[in-house]
Amino acid sequence: MIRFENVSKQFDDGTVAVKSLNLNIHKGEFFVLVGPSGSGKTTTLKMINRLIGISDGTILINDKKISDYDIHELRWNIGYVLQQIALFPHMTIQENIAIVPEMKKWNKEKIASRVDGLLEMVRLDPKTYKHRKPSELSGGQQQRIGVVRALAADPEILLMDEPFSALDPISREKLQDDLLKLQKSIKKTIVFVTHDMQEALKLGDRICIMKDGEIVQVGTPNDLVHHPVNDFVKKFLGRTE
Ligand code: ADP
Repeated sequence: MIRFENVSKQFDDGTVAVKSLNLNIHKGEFFVLVGPSGSGKTTTLKMINRLIGISDGTILINDKKISDYDIHELRWNIGYVLQQIALFPHMTIQENIAIVPEMKKWNKEKIASRVDGLLEMVRLDPKTYKHRKPSELSGGQQQRIGVVRALAADPEILLMDEPFSALDPISREKLQDDLLKLQKSIKKTIVFVTHDMQEALKLGDRICIMKDGEIVQVGTPNDLVHHPVNDFVKKFLGRTE
């Protein structure tokens, strides 16, 4: 569904963030990019929705080059969740969730029922929460809203950049569990960035380990744990032998 063909990114200051990346992300899979800080994960993610331009190579979504998509069509079809909770503080939860559906000109009834359905999906009672402002919710609750807002207009793809790393460990674990449950019912294609191998192993159907802008290994959690390709992977997994 998402294909990288020899994709490279060099920033204007000469930094090469990603080198000749080849990657196939399948429809409906939970795909995790993991690696140390500066390994090129965020750059890889942001190239998918054209927040960062590609220097060389091609990215295709459903066999169509991303450069051939209308930028609005592309962005509406790709939900995006960031580490920093990016809800609009002056808007209610309902208004925050409804942003993209409104841009897509869904009718009011459809939007209202979508908002209620999404809140129920993340176990937040719509009656209690939809008229609140973000500041009246906890960090974990706000990030749940961040996730459902990204899903509001039913995108095919969900990009998540360290979405839970600002949360305390307990909220973080809860959100990971929620996201896994949610994924079982919605079956989106998720590309998830983290520097935390334990998080990657817990969430990913497949995991791509990156280092210095290159792929070290792609595989299922089982592949990585039982057949690490080199010492870097072993070390990253916390194995010493
Ligand atoms: P990660 O997400 O794995 O931490 P990034 O994709 O953010 O890695 O960064 C990869 C490399 O590209 C790093 O060396 C980083 O400093 C560099 N980089 C990221 N954004 C820019 C930018 N806008 N300009 C120049 N260099 C950048």
